[in-house]
Amino acid sequence: MTNQAPFNQLSHKQENISSEPRRYLVNIDSISMNQLFTDCLVIGAGIAGLRAAIEAADPQLGRGCNVIIVCKAAVQDSNTWQAQGGIASVLGKKDSFESHIADTLNTGCGISDKKVVELVVRRGPELIEQLLRWGTDFDKINGHIAMTLEGGHSHPRIAHAHGDETGRIIAQTLINKVRQNPSIKIIENFFAIDLLTEDNKCTGIIGYDKHGRLQIIWAANTILATGGAGQLYRETTNPEVATGNGIAMAYRAGAVLWDLEFMQFHPTTLYVAGASRALITETLRGEGAVLLDSNGHRFMKEYHEAAELAPRDIVSRAILAQMLKTNSTHVYLDVQHFRKGYFAKRFPRIFELCKSFNIDVTHDLIPVRPSAHYMIGGVKTDMKAATSIKNLYACGEVASTGLHGANRLGSNSLLEGLVFGKIAGQVVSQSTKVVATHLRHPLIKYQIPHSDRTRLDTIDVRNSLRALMWRNVGITRKAQPLKEAEEIIRFWQRYVMDKVFDSPAGWECQNMLTVSLLMAHAAQQRQESRGVHFRSDFPETDDAHSKKHIEISKDV
Ligand SMILES: Cc1cc2nc3c(=O)[nH]c(=O)nc-3n(C[C@H](O)[C@H](O)[C@H](O)COP(=O)(O)OP(=O)(O)OC[C@H]3O[C@@H](n4cnc5c(N)ncnc54)[C@H](O)[C@@H]3O)c2cc1C
Repeated sequence: MTNQAPFNQLSHKQENISSEPRRYLVNIDSISMNQLFTDCLVIGAGIAGLRAAIEAADPQLGRGCNVIIVCKAAVQDSNTWQAQGGIASVLGKKDSFESHIADTLNTGCGISDKKVVELVVRRGPELIEQLLRWGTDFDKINGHIAMTLEGGHSHPRIAHAHGDETGRIIAQTLINKVRQNPSIKIIENFFAIDLLTEDNKCTGIIGYDKHGRLQIIWAANTILATGGAGQLYRETTNPEVATGNGIAMAYRAGAVLWDLEFMQFHPTTLYVAGASRALITETLRGEGAVLLDSNGHRFMKEYHEAAELAPRDIVSRAILAQMLKTNSTHVYLDVQHFRKGYFAKRFPRIFELCKSFNIDVTHDLIPVRPSAHYMIGGVKTDMKAATSIKNLYACGEVASTGLHGANRLGSNSLLEGLVFGKIAGQVVSQSTKVVATHLRHPLIKYQIPHSDRTRLDTIDVRNSLRALMWRNVGITRKAQPLKEAEEIIRFWQRYVMDKVFDSPAGWECQNMLTVSLLMAHAAQQRQESRGVHFRSDFPETDDAHSKKHIEISKDV
């Protein structure tokens, strides 16, 4: 490895990190199980999966596949549905692709893939215009999509819908579009347990349906769009579905994973004891909200010249440092100076949320602190959304395309899901030649040795894991706590991974242990600070040795 080659080709490979020996989490006897067949299977119904399905089923592009989308809960249960602030794209006359590209690369701290950044930024406007044509009710000014500013962007380029309900409005548009197409079938409450493979080729999945049955879905092509992993942390903005399933499934199947040390923490989530950590969008700071500590002091200027508009990692660490300095559990967002009536109109969801906790934002400060928000790392994909496993594609938060580098620029993730969802669907549509029912399906017989260890309280393991990740693999990291986290997770794995569970809670717990271990391991390997990965024992960025990606895969 040298620093002469383009850095995006540089990676440091780690193999067989996890102590889990298993290829599959459940016993399989493919002949005797329920079976479905499809040209294209999409796992996940967020922006990436829905957009991919629409494209894969389009008969004007290629074969016009029959598509099955599975999602483990209701179609509305996704990170996409929760997205508030907006979607970034160059739509204003004073803005330019070059500026959006430069901002994205700048935030990525030296390890973004420039080709990917260019692709995503340049494709953005046409796909947002398409969403508009399909019925997304973006907020407008004088008939044009209204654009707002967010930290790290040098122009107002964030399109939003119904104020702070951007994700819900976009997702609803895509769901409507999917439902209009008889070639696409959505199966809700279907838990994908494992990807089925033969000779490094994906042939479908084994899952668990709403009737409590194991079910095989054979697919000519599979698109993984299972979203993020915020639930690995005690404090998170992510809904319950975000447990890193796709990363764990892909790891067991032998896919190459990338950048798992990079978990982005959102600086401002509502901190009210007992409430879930609801996100208070960054756009609020873009529109003038300021951060105060518990003494009423505006502190951000002491940490960064852009103050409240500094990149997320800097704001998160500054808040944490200020909490320590003032011996407080949180800081505050102050919006009392906003024009009368503006907040309720522009941020209706947050307004209602605060009101439900007796916080009147026109007179009260909003208590906030950081929490786990966005998984930058994931399943490594190329410009065509292809993974290292044949016939397996990945898009959205589960994928690691190299767009975000070591830090994600706000509102670039919905954009990435939209662009790579379309690309994945298009590639699948153009490459699917054989009708799924005519494919030869492998015989899979897989038997796990019986374990007679006692039954487990998986909720307890899960809660302990989330607390450990928050404490030891959180916003600020260092060698000893990271090593301790890895040891503890390995210990838990010894008695959790040998079980055969019969419901999603157990498989999810196993997946969470797998992904957490890989993250703790990757965080130890990166002995420098870069983007969202901050090591207090290596506070500097080390371009000479560490300007590369950490790649992880398992021999299967
Ligand atoms: C509160 C919040 C606010 C955000 N605000 C913004 C914003 O303003 N702008 C922005 O760009 N980004 C924002 N983000 C990030 C953005 O929403 C996500 O990165 C993006 O929506 C991810 O889309 P996705 O399609 O990859 O995954 P998701 O939308 O998370 O969808 C994942 C899907 O996979 C399914 N799934 C998971 N595991 C399984 C399994 N085992 N079997 C079957 N199905 C499974 C889930 O059920 C779900 O349908 C925000 C995120 C959160 C949490």
